Amino acid sequence: MKNLNLLTLAGLVVVLLLSSCMKEKIDQTEYTPDLSSNFTKYETVTINYDQLLTKVQSNLDRTFTINLDIPTRPDWNFTMSNYDLSEVFPDQKTYLVGEGNTLTEVGPTQIIALEGRHLDATLPTLFTLSEGVFEALIMTPDGSEYYIEPMRNLDKNAPQDLYVVYNHKDIIATEDLICDQDGRVPHGQSENGGSDERAWCHAVKVTQMADYQFYANKFASNYTNTASFMRTRLLYASYRYNTYNQFPLNFVDNVVYIYTFDVNYPNAVNNSATFVQQWDNFNGYSWFVNSPINYLWTGRNVSGVWGRADGIAKMCSNPTDEYSFGEKMASNYHSNNLMAHEIGHTLGAYHDNSSTNFMNSNWNNWNSTLGINARANLFAHINSNNGCTYYKQCE
Ligand SMILES: [Zn+2]
Repeated sequence: MKNLNLLTLAGLVVVLLLSSCMKEKIDQTEYTPDLSSNFTKYETVTINYDQLLTKVQSNLDRTFTINLDIPTRPDWNFTMSNYDLSEVFPDQKTYLVGEGNTLTEVGPTQIIALEGRHLDATLPTLFTLSEGVFEALIMTPDGSEYYIEPMRNLDKNAPQDLYVVYNHKDIIATEDLICDQDGRVPHGQSENGGSDERAWCHAVKVTQMADYQFYANKFASNYTNTASFMRTRLLYASYRYNTYNQFPLNFVDNVVYIYTFDVNYPNAVNNSATFVQQWDNFNGYSWFVNSPINYLWTGRNVSGVWGRADGIAKMCSNPTDEYSFGEKMASNYHSNNLMAHEIGHTLGAYHDNSSTNFMNSNWNNWNSTLGINARANLFAHINSNNGCTYYKQCE
């Protein structure tokens, strides 16, 4: 009798185990990712954000090794440590802009960054965890750049814990997007301004805004996710300069505004130049805190371009007149590049088609490299206008 009870219990356990496995199996088959129009090659991987966050938080005070348990990449062991964000995000002011331009301040964005290496890679790997989203830019010793981001960025029906891993070379460009910068002559360029002052960093404050269409259509009216996306882009864009290319410049988060009310402005969607000038008009609002760089994330399709800077090298010459905008691109990898690219124009860089780099005019040729010509433009402009940025000592 006793044995029978045990047998019944064992049978029940087996049934329960089977049913939980079956449930999981059914969930897996319900969602079949198809990113064949986005990537020539990609992998999907399950990452439990909460588990990862717990592990990261318990190791923030030390250097530790972490493996993301990607089945095909067992050798991806990373040695990581906490990247102090206190100087990048000093105040974390986020305002929701409502009807009649009424402002409501909301709480800070939760963001943790880890910096480290995969084996003996030349360039560091960056992990970010923010508001339930893990992202990683992974540099491998052979010089490849991999990116990990949630599958939901590419398909809103994807399970929350499903992520996509891809090499940037495997991103499919659906069309040849060419940046249509204007041809304004840069101000204050000098011939001898190219010396490399690595000991000191230029810190450039950035104000960001999301228009209503961006907030409503790209983030389903979730302001926490909107602010998290914007601040994470700023961090990866800043990394393009200071860490990956040793260019002595850091972006500093100043203010984030999110339009939660449907205002049809800027509205010149058929003319990107007028659109960015309309964005520039925010400088006239008493509530708008202007920065040396002001970046609008728009949910609109602006005359077929995906981003624009209002003139080259306006920083310093017109220090309150630095406006650029960008759209959310298909991959976060390219949204990072886009922000670095448009801000690069306002900081003094022209297109650099000498190599694969983020100032190339064609987004098919973007990666995390700062091209040598763009680099020379930036040094020439910024060094000849030292008074317009403030310095902090590089780490
Ligand atoms: Zn451009």
